[in-house]
Amino acid sequence: MAKCIAFSQSVTPAESVLVEREVIILGGGLAGISTAVNLLKHGIKATLVEQRPFLGGRAFSFRDRFSGEEIDNGQHVILGVCNEFLQLLSDLGTRNEIELGGSLDVPVAFKGKVTNLRANRFFGNAFALVRYSHLSISDRISVARLLVKLKLHLVDTNQSIDASAVSFAEWLSFQGQSQAAIERFWSLFILPVFNCHVDEVAAEDAIEFTRIALLGSARETAIGYPRTDLSSLIGTPASQFMRENGIEVKMGARVSSISKSKSGVFEVALSSGEKLRCRNVVSALNPKSIASVLPTSDKSLAAMKTALTSFEYSPIVAVHLWYEKPVMVERVLAFVDLGLQWVFNDSALRNTSNNSTQHIVISLSGADEWAMLTKTDVLHRITSSMRVAFPLANTVDIVNSTVVKTLDATIKIKPGSRRLRFLQNTDVSGFYFAGDWTDTGLPATMEGAVLSGKTVADLVVRRL
Ligand SMILES: Cc1cc2nc3c(=O)[nH]c(=O)nc-3n(C[C@H](O)[C@H](O)[C@H](O)COP(=O)(O)OP(=O)(O)OC[C@H]3O[C@@H](n4cnc5c(N)ncnc54)[C@H](O)[C@@H]3O)c2cc1C
Repeated sequence: MAKCIAFSQSVTPAESVLVEREVIILGGGLAGISTAVNLLKHGIKATLVEQRPFLGGRAFSFRDRFSGEEIDNGQHVILGVCNEFLQLLSDLGTRNEIELGGSLDVPVAFKGKVTNLRANRFFGNAFALVRYSHLSISDRISVARLLVKLKLHLVDTNQSIDASAVSFAEWLSFQGQSQAAIERFWSLFILPVFNCHVDEVAAEDAIEFTRIALLGSARETAIGYPRTDLSSLIGTPASQFMRENGIEVKMGARVSSISKSKSGVFEVALSSGEKLRCRNVVSALNPKSIASVLPTSDKSLAAMKTALTSFEYSPIVAVHLWYEKPVMVERVLAFVDLGLQWVFNDSALRNTSNNSTQHIVISLSGADEWAMLTKTDVLHRITSSMRVAFPLANTVDIVNSTVVKTLDATIKIKPGSRRLRFLQNTDVSGFYFAGDWTDTGLPATMEGAVLSGKTVADLVVRRL
């Protein structure tokens, strides 16, 4: 088996650390954590390198300095079909911290009226539309018909209109879906899942997602919410897992460069000056970070560098509001209008409702326009919409607010993006990619990140 030597550059031999490792994982987000956990299942203890002082990557929480509460960088939601993510949580011992319903059941607000999109346990989502009064009867029939045709593979996705070349909105229009159906049904799911608007997202990817998730079994379509903050769900238990299982984690360790010798040994340089050598390197960094540390000297690695810079990114803006008294009854409410998208009653989801204040999170995906506004303007617009959406918000004071903008929240999956996404295996022997942006067949999500790590672990094991 290939071995990795990690040593510090300190001059005094007494200070140098000599550790034998087979695999180095760069990046301690979900993809890196999943790689480490899955390698361990094959008896391999990797070394994981993370620049920040905690694990979890883009799914993390922090202490809000005004409220003193641990809050998430943005609301994270899953579907019942996210089996790999749920399995990882089981491995980390936090699976019970996800509240997962038996099937899809979402209240949707439009023009001041709320109606539920509720999947039929036996007949699935096409029947969720029967009582969905935000659409006319003819639109409901039209959407249900397309869902059934997609489920039965009766739509030739390449006939007349090439699904790999157009946006989902274009494709839906071609399939006879009205603007109302696109805005009040399809966008509800596609925008938050892809973090991209229907008129940007690639039709072929949205179709695949619809088949896997929206048209799965009742359980697979159920929405899952964390009952705790993201760091307690992922990062903290992951650190503990690594510690208890002898997986070395170098926290606060930024990778500054990677090179490969003629003998096939990789050298990973950290900004501290430490150098790690190994025959197997898994990059679980985002494309921008990995592009910045790959060498120009090695031809194959340099070629990747250019391709890694071709991705476009989409922002997410999360608005946290604390009302002095409760203003929202529902646990979650999706909005078709008012620009609110999805509103989460964090106090109810985390079962902290007995505090007198109510913590609400408004999650804005595909938020290019929101991201350009100042935080004050974002707050002004959102609080105005909240007053229209929740009458009580007109009489209850907001005691605290925080706006979190994540500019590079996920890659955009636009027509043609599929060919940009890298396979986990590369032409460079011993070098692998993991991450939500790699080619997993899924949107850039937690499930995709975890799946990519599991795929990489299998590839590494086959090579060793
Ligand atoms: C606000 C927000 C809301 C979201 N909502 C959802 C949701 O509802 N559902 C869902 O499924 N997904 C959601 N996502 C997406 C989800 O968070 C990501 O898909 C997932 O966390 C990506 O994991 P990853 O491991 O691929 O990448 P990352 O989490 O980005 O991990 C990369 C890691 O590499 C580290 N790193 C970078 N450069 C270096 C370096 N030079 N040296 C060492 N370490 C380095 C980073 O610090 C990071 O920890 C959301 C994302 C955001 C930002």
